Amino acid sequence: MSVKEITENLEIINENELPDEDKNISEAEKQEKKVIMEFKNVTKEYSRGDRVFYALKDANLTINEGEMVVILGPSGAGKSTLLNLLGGMDRLSSGEIFFDGKDISKYTDNQLTQYRAANVGVVFQFYNLIPTLTAYENVALMKNIEKNTMDPKEALREVGLEEHMHQFPSQLSGGEQQRTSIARAIAKNPRILLCDEPTGALDTDTGQDVLRLLQRMSKEKKRTVIMVTHNSSFADIADTVIRVKNGMIQSITANKNIKDASEISW
Ligand code: ADP
Repeated sequence: MSVKEITENLEIINENELPDEDKNISEAEKQEKKVIMEFKNVTKEYSRGDRVFYALKDANLTINEGEMVVILGPSGAGKSTLLNLLGGMDRLSSGEIFFDGKDISKYTDNQLTQYRAANVGVVFQFYNLIPTLTAYENVALMKNIEKNTMDPKEALREVGLEEHMHQFPSQLSGGEQQRTSIARAIAKNPRILLCDEPTGALDTDTGQDVLRLLQRMSKEKKRTVIMVTHNSSFADIADTVIRVKNGMIQSITANKNIKDASEISW
């Protein structure tokens, strides 16, 4: 046996001897996953009379760049609180929140505004489009917030709405309005795309179209998509599922068998 063969065999033996967790780490490293957001012991509390109420308690999580993450839980679990903290739309009571290695929980209001403008796109359940502006104009509005925006036409093409760009929201179906709001959110090329029950106002077929679009944003365009929902079917289309209940993170699971959005129903 040559020295080269012996060395190769040794490497195989060493790999096989690794404990399971180390194998996972080396697999993650092979895929070069980059952590984009991290929560360390994040708590958000409110006072209710003379009691302290925890909307979120001691939350720890990491989110990898380019993944599709679904935050799942019943109403009142703390999902919106989590989403608002990720998006710099709310302040924590204690803990640390890192974006790209920087602790945004220590940011001043101005820094946090810049963080939101440059890095965060948000999609809401009820679209929040301006009714007196066309789809194109609704997307073009983003130029007022962030200089480095996409051409609105390009953003609308990405969501399959180029042909409808001169229509007003009232002339678009619910699904088309939601796709317009997704175009608006991605127009400034945000590092994270936050979606709050994005299919909540849509029927199943149209909702599936929107989910397929969000899945494609993550898989093909490598955008980090973070969606909150009470709908447990959505867990199947995520890379990572974060379950919350009573302000506590119950579990964080990597999905081994990711389904296409067209395969799920609710
Ligand atoms: P979810 O999005 O899962 O429905 P939320 O994050 O909106 O849950 O809320 C979690 C809990 O925190 C709820 O009990 C809610 O009433 C409470 N909460 C949220 N915002 C406030 C607030 N501004 N003041 C007091 N309590 C709040």
